[in-house]
Amino acid sequence: MKDNAFVNEEQIFNALDNADLSKEHINDILAKAKECKGITIEEAACLLQLTDKGLLEKLYEIAGYIKEQIYGKRIVFFAPMYVSNICANNCLYCAFRTGNKDLKRICQSPEEIENETLFLLREGHKRVLLVAGEHPKYSGIEYLEKAVAAIYKARYNGVGIRRVNVNCAPLSGEDFKRLKQCGIGTYQVFQETYHYDSYMKYHVSGPKRDMANRLLAPDRAIEAGIDDVGIGPLYGLYDFRFETLATLQHCEHLNALYNIGPHTISVPRLEPAQNAPVAENIPYPVNEDIMRKIVSVFRVAVPYTGIILSTRERAEFRNELINLGVSQISAGSRVGPGEYSKEEGLVESKDQFQLSDQRTLAQIIDVLLNDEFIPSFCTACYRRGRTGETFMKHAKEGDIHEMCLPNALLSFREYLHDFASDEVKAKANVVINKYVETLPENMKSKVKELIANIDKGEKDQYI
Ligand code: SAM
Ligand code: SF4
Repeated sequence: MKDNAFVNEEQIFNALDNADLSKEHINDILAKAKECKGITIEEAACLLQLTDKGLLEKLYEIAGYIKEQIYGKRIVFFAPMYVSNICANNCLYCAFRTGNKDLKRICQSPEEIENETLFLLREGHKRVLLVAGEHPKYSGIEYLEKAVAAIYKARYNGVGIRRVNVNCAPLSGEDFKRLKQCGIGTYQVFQETYHYDSYMKYHVSGPKRDMANRLLAPDRAIEAGIDDVGIGPLYGLYDFRFETLATLQHCEHLNALYNIGPHTISVPRLEPAQNAPVAENIPYPVNEDIMRKIVSVFRVAVPYTGIILSTRERAEFRNELINLGVSQISAGSRVGPGEYSKEEGLVESKDQFQLSDQRTLAQIIDVLLNDEFIPSFCTACYRRGRTGETFMKHAKEGDIHEMCLPNALLSFREYLHDFASDEVKAKANVVINKYVETLPENMKSKVKELIANIDKGEKDQYI
């Protein structure tokens, strides 16, 4: 029997088959979307099937409008930290799979993890996404506890990582409680594909083959007190329209049960990977036009859910996607354990997939500043208790933006102080000053005061 929990394949196929693509109907959907209150799965099914250039442009325009209204030009940075590539699963698209006998297997010790973290701190990162393969012996909860603690322990010039998010295999409710105790921010788990037959086809062995267990992992995390969860499909395994609508069903499921949607949705695309047949021969390739559609539809359908993109996209296209709705990106990423601290030029096959974008955080920031984006290293919400339902309440009332912009500016100022060249500082301070002037009077004076503190050498100033 198909055990795919809340996924209603029939609803998705019906929505796609019966979509009314008339200009009139699409215009009605777009007018509704502009109110920033989201749209239904049936309405999203129409937008995902648009081919009319004029209507597509209109969709992008409205996605851009919503992005601007809710998130402004802020863009949050994080870096992934791969701690272990030992895995008991056999996902046919991943180099960590048990069937890949050519991969050098590594499970980093807490000391090694702390050392890796130093490399990220030296770059200026404050947010880390811990990533691990699934193995009962090597990456169970005891190991994860030690790994998170090691990341938080690292200090560079007295400053540490301020938010560790975790992307690991589904845990039991009890283990999620323990993970929460470690002080993590978001628990992230990608469903890969919500399509049952494809899921069974590409997850050939190991605990991950239990699809329902994975589908319900965010439920268990929320019930265990981790109320910021991140979800997403891995685009390329099945039809992007199906995956996007199923992700929206997932949002509805979480909303119905817990009154909160996911904190973030990620939109990764399959990358080539060593000895990974499905990544070499992608079943449903996703091109840039499709990516534009995916990001725009998520932006209009769930306006208050952050959208995460990896920096693997080429710079110009990534900027375009940021304008359409992406609110978080990774930068300076390495995708294998021990990769940050490895000797320059040493090539070993322990990575999860091939990474084309090798630019550093500083290089990416420099380019983003040209378009007046505001890089943010903010970790305030989580530390002020603005998570889960509390976060959503602020977000829906529109006042989260009033806090996020000042916090982005403050965290960026601290970054500039500690890590940027004089040239970048000068360029960035023009942008910062410009945005400070847009703040309401009382906030403006508060922010100026905190900026002065940062300029005097104080750290971690936020609202
Ligand atoms: N092992 C855990 C799991 O699978 O949930 C967590 C870590 S796993 C390395 C994190 C994610 O990497 C997976 O959920 C999958 O979406 C993504 N991934 C795997 N192979 C990939 C590939 N070839 N290209 C892009 N992303 C990939
Ligand atoms: Fe293991 Fe995760 Fe890779 Fe699957 S995607 S092989 S579970 S690391």
